Amino acid sequence: MQRRQILVTSGLPYVNAGIHLGHLVEYLQTDIWVRFQKLRDHECRYFCGDDTHGTATMLRAEQEGRAPEALLDEMHAAHLSDFTDFGIEYDHFSSTHAPANEALVGEVWAALRANDSIEEREVTQLYDPEAGIFLADRFVRGICPRCKADDQYGDNCEVCGATYEPSELIEPRSSISGAVPEERTHPHLFVKLEKFHAFLEKWTQTPGRMPHETANWLRGTFLSDVLRDWDISRPAPYFGFEIPDAPGHFFYVWLDAPIGYIASTKEWCDANGDSLDRWWRNPDCEIHHFIGKDIAYFHTLFWPAMLKSANFELPTKVHVHGFLTVNGEKMSKRKGTFVLARTYLDHLSPEYLRYYYASKLSHRVDDLDLNLDEFVQKVNSDLVGKVVNLASRTARFVKDRELPATYPSHRDEGLFEKAARASDEIAEAYEARDTSRAMRTIMALADRANEFVEAAAPWTLKKDPDREGELLEICAVALNLFRQLTVYLAPVLPRFAEESARLLSIAEPTRWEDASTPVVGTRVTKFKHLMERVDPDKVAAMTEASREAADAVKEEDPTRASGDDALAGEPLEAECSIDDFTKVDLRVAEIVSAQAVPKANKLLQLELSLGGDERRTVFAGIKKAYEPEALVGRLTVVVANLAPRKMKFGTSEGMVLAAGPGDDELFILSPDSGAKPGQRIR
Ligand SMILES: [Zn+2]
Repeated sequence: MQRRQILVTSGLPYVNAGIHLGHLVEYLQTDIWVRFQKLRDHECRYFCGDDTHGTATMLRAEQEGRAPEALLDEMHAAHLSDFTDFGIEYDHFSSTHAPANEALVGEVWAALRANDSIEEREVTQLYDPEAGIFLADRFVRGICPRCKADDQYGDNCEVCGATYEPSELIEPRSSISGAVPEERTHPHLFVKLEKFHAFLEKWTQTPGRMPHETANWLRGTFLSDVLRDWDISRPAPYFGFEIPDAPGHFFYVWLDAPIGYIASTKEWCDANGDSLDRWWRNPDCEIHHFIGKDIAYFHTLFWPAMLKSANFELPTKVHVHGFLTVNGEKMSKRKGTFVLARTYLDHLSPEYLRYYYASKLSHRVDDLDLNLDEFVQKVNSDLVGKVVNLASRTARFVKDRELPATYPSHRDEGLFEKAARASDEIAEAYEARDTSRAMRTIMALADRANEFVEAAAPWTLKKDPDREGELLEICAVALNLFRQLTVYLAPVLPRFAEESARLLSIAEPTRWEDASTPVVGTRVTKFKHLMERVDPDKVAAMTEASREAADAVKEEDPTRASGDDALAGEPLEAECSIDDFTKVDLRVAEIVSAQAVPKANKLLQLELSLGGDERRTVFAGIKKAYEPEALVGRLTVVVANLAPRKMKFGTSEGMVLAAGPGDDELFILSPDSGAKPGQRIR
């Protein structure tokens, strides 16, 4: 096997938020892949770091009365300790605020300037004259121009789902100072991305470059049209790097973030006497990015254009994964399923989650569901019931004895050899990111090993002093089959592999081939619990703790009234007549399709049937509360005679009724069963 040189990255975690179980889908998947490559003796390095820049960091630091750097240090330590405790092992974890990154950003920028890819244009934006800063849409609040709901964001209304320009808001206010914002024009710098169209078309559509779902999506959306220029500058004040040849302008966070991959490599090279060009300007070095589907277009359009301009190698492969759902739904703070990494660690072993995710993940872009009942059941039945069981049922009969000097293959019915031959199949599945397939193959081997122990019944041999030699050989077979499994599982369960090795007085597995070499002549030590069963009460305690943490945050935020406070938070409207009411034509509607609007935070596009051929397209601001698939086939209530409204993403032909304060706490209405689409509600 040729020794490969492989550079691996995960998406950089944003410095403003704690790591949660959703993030861990990516970091665990990447870590498993990296550990596998290292076990295969490839020269593999895993680089990451905090994504630090932007207005949000600046405002939070201001609010907390400290320098942004202090916030960065604190979050860097918190992130790294979460990762470390989950067994995620970076070769280096840096920060996009590092001087190495500033130098490399300057290098990429100079290259973009040199190949004439930058253009300056005026941009009109709302400006907060008191705070002295331009306002991103989400920092403007005011009255919704459509439904007149108070205190809505600058780009969309949480109550009625309307989207609009910040300038359309009634009585707009800056959410930073409370001042009335004014429109101001300021020059911005743009990357002329269309210049790279032909190159990107070819690069993204090269087979194997990225999942074909992603390649097809790019071809059907961005690449089917003229690529829009990318606005990469922000006027001061902004927390980031100042643009060297444009004082008063700062690089937009998304320009410097991916360059952080290179900077993290650079810092590692400097500390280890290696050269950066050997990793980023070397066609023999593979570069693999692991990312979530939400940031695919940054990594497959802007990023390759930047790399190409600055003469760096392009990624060999972009591995794209879906999102995490818990119990079939979006993670919810209210339900306690929005679980921080630290909260999980307070209650459960990280190796449970490592195994569960591995057993569910494939190379596809599908979302991954963490079903908490299945989580308990799967870990207990596979890891405790099958793998640990092999050792716990046999090791005690040969405690303090030495394994035979040669492996007793005449006793094992060819099982060791068969499991050794599965090595390529398991390795292929790991390589292809098909860890669910790898786990299935490994568990099938565990099943056969357990059948062997069952049939050989060492507990019966133990009773007959004349069969002591046979007992030792049977246990030696079982413990070797166990050892094989721990090597195959080592990328997923590194700590378990290490502790299991101690049972046989051997070193932890360091080479994939260890699975094909029997352990002989070493002493069997006292069996210690290698893994406890998952206690469902601890899972319940974890969700309860997550719910309490979310409630504590909510109490500090008086704008999010709910439950008993709903009426007080939003007093009743003035009386209306029955005639007023009948002007509103409410109908039962069936949701025939639902899909997320890619560039909108809160919008789902719904196709409604009112019975017969009557169809309506409606945009509803419920993206954070519902998975689109969960809505299809449901009946709901629609305002059917609302004047159509042109929105950024299309025309909305009605309004779906929902209650609740917003975000993930929105509840759409349903009629009782028996109602038919098109029936009027009165
Ligand atoms: Zn509204």
